[in-house]
Amino acid sequence: MEGTSYIELSKEAVENNFSYLNSLVGPDTLVSHVVKGNAYGHGIDTYVPLALEKGAKHFSTFDAHEAYKVHQVTDGKVPVMIMGMILNDQLEWAIENGIEFFVFEFDRLRECIKVAKKIGKPALIHIELETGMNRTGFEFDKLNEVLRLVHYYPDQVEIKGICTHYAGAESFANFFRVKAQFQKFKKGVKFLAKNNLKAERLHTACSAGAVRFPKSRFDMVRIGILQYGFWPSQETYIEKIKPVGIGDEDPLKRVISWKSRVMDVKTVNQGEYIGYGMSYLATSEIKVATIPVGYGHGFSRSLSNTGRALVKNSRVSVIGTVNMNLMLLDVTHVDGVEKGDEVVLIGNQGDLSISVASFGDFSDQLNYELLTRLPRDIPRKIVK
Ligand SMILES: *Cc1c(COP(=O)(O)O)cnc(C)c1O
Repeated sequence: MEGTSYIELSKEAVENNFSYLNSLVGPDTLVSHVVKGNAYGHGIDTYVPLALEKGAKHFSTFDAHEAYKVHQVTDGKVPVMIMGMILNDQLEWAIENGIEFFVFEFDRLRECIKVAKKIGKPALIHIELETGMNRTGFEFDKLNEVLRLVHYYPDQVEIKGICTHYAGAESFANFFRVKAQFQKFKKGVKFLAKNNLKAERLHTACSAGAVRFPKSRFDMVRIGILQYGFWPSQETYIEKIKPVGIGDEDPLKRVISWKSRVMDVKTVNQGEYIGYGMSYLATSEIKVATIPVGYGHGFSRSLSNTGRALVKNSRVSVIGTVNMNLMLLDVTHVDGVEKGDEVVLIGNQGDLSISVASFGDFSDQLNYELLTRLPRDIPRKIVK
């Protein structure tokens, strides 16, 4: 059964972004495709097979549940790495299926050694270092104990990586903090190497790190937002296109579009209020289109009287309050709008486009937040 709106993923855009990414990081750096948050709203089930088809060789998730989904969708053919949450009782599944995961505290480290011993397979771990974000990661004074355990159980742990995460590489304001983290990371890696602990890969960079700080790329980058065609921040975009000059095209293409259809059209007389309450008064006779998408579908209520949409190649305004399941568009100046016409909430129509960023500016949400809040039950499909 079709829903009231649908999401399209562009194959061409994925191809374009992957080739940009590969040329950015070069052949020696592996790209891990971060698909947490339901692949940033794009849908794991739809996006992951598409990414695979276009050459993705490694995926990262936040938790074990997402990793399970990716593992299923890819038939276990591609490495999957959990960067955050895995319950102790999920470790057996992970180790059995060769799922990689971050280790940043001793309970998880000891537990995975125990499970690895029990099932006779090594745990594939990434040791996360605390370098200044103060979120997760081993403090340096804990590294001797890490070394002791890892060296004591060589058959139970395989060190796939040593890693850290920057506290906001997308903003110049954080430059000194990020730089200090980079230096601390190198120090930690050196210390571990001196004590005979070498990892298959070092990795620290998210999209912003990979774009702004080439040295942060090491052997692998963990790329989320960029692969979907979005810059991590306006600042990153401006910095990146500056050398080639204003007016140059954005090298990224948005993968996602969000569309619906006109449900009804009617004329409202001058002096009437529209929808709930009195937030919009028709100051002249207007034509109103009803769209079956509301805050219950992920179209923020803060877009009441401010949001935009595309209908019949025209940009039109949301009027009145956004309801749970409906919103109203002012289509007074668009000829021939009819029930069933395509409505673009995010994406392109004709020469016009509505970017997630502009949508986000209106509703005061980050790209990241808006995308990941797109409900899971909106059908996703792949288009050219
Ligand atoms: C989300 C996340 C990333 C990817 O971030 P983007 O800015 O979307 O590229 C990388 N590393 C970690 C640890 C993350 O949590």
